[in-house]
Amino acid sequence: MKKLTNTDKLNLVVLDMAGTTVADGGLVEQAFGAAARRLGVAPGSADHAEKLAYVRATMGESKISVFRHLFGDESKAQQANLAFEEAYGELVDGGRIAPVPGARAAIERLTGEGRTVVLSTGFARTTQDAILAALGWRDLVALTLCPADAGGRGRPYPDMVLAAFLRTGAVDGVQQIVVAGDTSYDMLSGVRSGAGIVAGVLTGAHDKEQLQRNGATHVLGSVAELPDLIARAEA
Ligand SMILES: [Mg+2]
Repeated sequence: MKKLTNTDKLNLVVLDMAGTTVADGGLVEQAFGAAARRLGVAPGSADHAEKLAYVRATMGESKISVFRHLFGDESKAQQANLAFEEAYGELVDGGRIAPVPGARAAIERLTGEGRTVVLSTGFARTTQDAILAALGWRDLVALTLCPADAGGRGRPYPDMVLAAFLRTGAVDGVQQIVVAGDTSYDMLSGVRSGAGIVAGVLTGAHDKEQLQRNGATHVLGSVAELPDLIARAEA
């Protein structure tokens, strides 16, 4: 076995929340329904179906960016985003989310191994905080990031991953970053950041083919398998 130097250690792990570490059982789509209603998009209409298909395809992207695309005008996008965040927050407070099985143990193992774990999301900060509070995860990791914390663009840009790199100082180079997520945009953000491992997980929005097409270096059944993958990669 080769001796590890510090620059080989995969010591920064950036994990997506919904669909990766947090199981929300389709709450994004439900909350989108509330946003669409607020903007007068009739349920069951072709317009609704088309917009929902876009929401599915861009899962993981900054939600305000999604609404800007769908509604064009900034004030409508803000209205839709507010309705979305309110509806999602109510569902979260109603106990509709849970950790992905094994996610907490995986995070604790990675942290116990001396790695820095960061949780990132496409949601706004208020929603991210509501999810963390509902799960009792507020003190679980060193840093949590939403798009606004990293210049506002969110995924598929690498900005949140690079913000994690800059803010934590956990590793010497971007090749020591591990990114894991359930969507095409998570994979793109990981590839664009230069992360050494970009792992797709099958507990969320997108399938193996979509994840691989967008640059997944590995596809895992769930985030519970990630600590072993990292350990193998360092061996
Ligand atoms: Mg996700």
